[in-house]
Amino acid sequence: MLTKKDLKEKFSKDWKKYYKINFLVEQGFVRRVCEKCGKGFWTLDPESKVCDDQPCSFYEFLGNPPTKKRFDLIETWKKIENFFVDNGHMSIKRYPTVCRWYPLFFTSAGIIDFYRLVDGNVTFDFPTNPVFVNQPCLRFNDVENVGRTGKHYTCFTMVQQSSLFNGKEGYWKEKCIELDFDLLTKVFEIKPEEISFLESVWTGPNTFGSSLEYFVRGLELGNAVFTEFLMTDSGISEMKEKVIDMGAGLERFAWVTQGTPTSYDVSFAPLLEKLKKKIGIGYDKEFFLKYAKLAGILNLDEVADIELARKSIAEKLEVSVEELKQKIEEVEALYAVCDHTLALTFAISDGSLPSNVAGGYNLRVILRRALGFIDKFNWNFNLAEICELHAKHLKPIYPVLLEHQEEIKKILNVEEKRYKESKKRAKKIVEKILETKQELDEAKLIQLYDSEGITPELLKESGAKVEAPPNFYVKVTERHMQAKLVEEKIRFDVSALPETKILFYDDVFKFKAKVLKVFDENCVVLDQTAFYAEAGGQLSDKGFIDGIEIKNVQKIGKAIIHELRRKIEEGKEVECEVDKSRREILKRHHTATHIINVASRKVLGSHVWQHSAFKDVDKARLDITHFEALSEEQIEKIESEANEIVEKDLPIKTEVLQRAEAEKKYGFRIYQGGAVPSKELRIVSISDIDNEACRGTHSKSTGEVGFITILRTKRIQDGVDRIEFCSDEVALKHLKEKEKILKEVTNKLKIKESEVPEAIKKLFEEWKKLRKELRKKK
Ligand SMILES: [Zn+2]
Ligand SMILES: [Zn+2]
Repeated sequence: MLTKKDLKEKFSKDWKKYYKINFLVEQGFVRRVCEKCGKGFWTLDPESKVCDDQPCSFYEFLGNPPTKKRFDLIETWKKIENFFVDNGHMSIKRYPTVCRWYPLFFTSAGIIDFYRLVDGNVTFDFPTNPVFVNQPCLRFNDVENVGRTGKHYTCFTMVQQSSLFNGKEGYWKEKCIELDFDLLTKVFEIKPEEISFLESVWTGPNTFGSSLEYFVRGLELGNAVFTEFLMTDSGISEMKEKVIDMGAGLERFAWVTQGTPTSYDVSFAPLLEKLKKKIGIGYDKEFFLKYAKLAGILNLDEVADIELARKSIAEKLEVSVEELKQKIEEVEALYAVCDHTLALTFAISDGSLPSNVAGGYNLRVILRRALGFIDKFNWNFNLAEICELHAKHLKPIYPVLLEHQEEIKKILNVEEKRYKESKKRAKKIVEKILETKQELDEAKLIQLYDSEGITPELLKESGAKVEAPPNFYVKVTERHMQAKLVEEKIRFDVSALPETKILFYDDVFKFKAKVLKVFDENCVVLDQTAFYAEAGGQLSDKGFIDGIEIKNVQKIGKAIIHELRRKIEEGKEVECEVDKSRREILKRHHTATHIINVASRKVLGSHVWQHSAFKDVDKARLDITHFEALSEEQIEKIESEANEIVEKDLPIKTEVLQRAEAEKKYGFRIYQGGAVPSKELRIVSISDIDNEACRGTHSKSTGEVGFITILRTKRIQDGVDRIEFCSDEVALKHLKEKEKILKEVTNKLKIKESEVPEAIKKLFEEWKKLRKELRKKK
């Protein structure tokens, strides 16, 4: 397998093929090789010896921007969008920052919008070509750099310019670079001699290509990636449709026009003004500018020890380290809090929650980091207030953020309470640690955060002698960031078989079929089948093939495999019968799951998503994302909301749509069950109240589901509540059983039904009294 380094060498050797852009040559650009890092770069200055990247160069634009005009973040957003629209791109609405269409927790780059999974490989699905989007992104691999380096964010907007090129449609390298050059020189009026292009390589999940990063006065503004190779197990091949993937930092574009000490000064300008006033922070702009010019190198990836780096900066600035810290730390913390609250605003608005699992883990890390700063500097505001300031600031470009303020407030309040509880626990833990003289090494710190949510800052505050190790938050999140890999077990090679004709959506329960193939004596593929194969949490059908009982039905690739109790002959014509009553119950329970999901969302809020689901004959369960345990009142409301939907007898329809079409028509809510690895989606709609991509069997209307009763609910993990329920005849059976129990109680206690609660209370009191006496005796 080729490594990134191998690719760099390969492309660099063959630079004429991969990096030479005729348009640039016509403008007078020449290729030079950096004397410091050895990378090739393109510049108008033939005397140029080093590239524009750090650490070969410094930021030259700080206090000295290369543009005549200054633009704020929103102006920059609109300017760039207008430019690409004027140049033949369709500008599409942003995608959610919480990624539902591809197995990632968050949308970490603009190109992720167009990633789809087909048979385990990434394919590109463009809604239009060429396409432009300003895409808010979330990244959590650099948390500790946020606030310090002037340019790192957990939440930023990526300017995404993309084109699919197949020789006829779309455009390739030349046009891409010409557009980017025009954007810089015509829209932002940056002089061509200020611009340079650095040769690089980009590798994705199973694609790669050369790229040109463009720089202005030492700042990388964008990276034009030319994705043209596919890497599979069988080797490297050229893609039939190549992809232009130019991603640029919106915040950086705005920053370069202002030349402020940090990009945060531009991105969060109106917030910082208010917050600085509110907390009465001292801000020495001149000092900050001098500091910022040196702080660009404070990237924890490259500088192992931030204290050491600070020391060298302090020496250069002729102040003591203490003085330096005092001048910058509070401002840096404020920057970080602004960034973290923005990430939370987007993530919660788009349906994610801080928790202890999966993507929610990252959100709680930044939430606690932000709360830690508020504590440390004793600021007089809370996180929800800042979220609201963000929503107001970004209203012209992301109006939806304002709609979610109530929900954000509720969730952050719950989280702040939890943080305070952790703080109390931290005190006790520290007391114990001091008493027993335990050592607080890195492993222990990580364990304390993981199991108790206690940050090193909290321990320090409680009196423990502890310094958070560098990259602490990166280390704790890395442990939870194993991507959601989609794994498909392949037991049999079905590649030579035709697609099994599916009858189970058509209410067929008796049918004739031909045995096409038998694996392992008893695993059968038919030419057609009405037996439902397990999927989407719905169990497979039972029944008989040629009188032999079915154990299990699974779909592998395009074939459906029936596992039988006995062996069967290949080529045989067989009679088949599906266990109808079992299927009918599963169908109703499956449909009830959709209904409970809608009802939960209505009662609890739009942050509710299906976490997972399971449908059996005696009950079904739906696990939903929610920030606290459900109350009795909420459960009752969900149940009555669900039964209202049943009573309305709303029509349920299914349609098969191309994925892009389905996403456009119904949005990303369709992915309740996670990313779907196919080009076509089967969309199940309950009237106009719910649309989901789902392969299960459903009732034709909500009335068919029958009365729904919630059996129990349970908080199964942080951020997830389980609801168990059943419907119709199963619900009735359940209620009858309850009645039977009640009758037994009334008979034994010789009371009326209405007297039961009072009687139980009395019994309980007596039991408590007895227990007390027993204890005394002991
Ligand atoms: Zn260099
Ligand atoms: Zn379904």
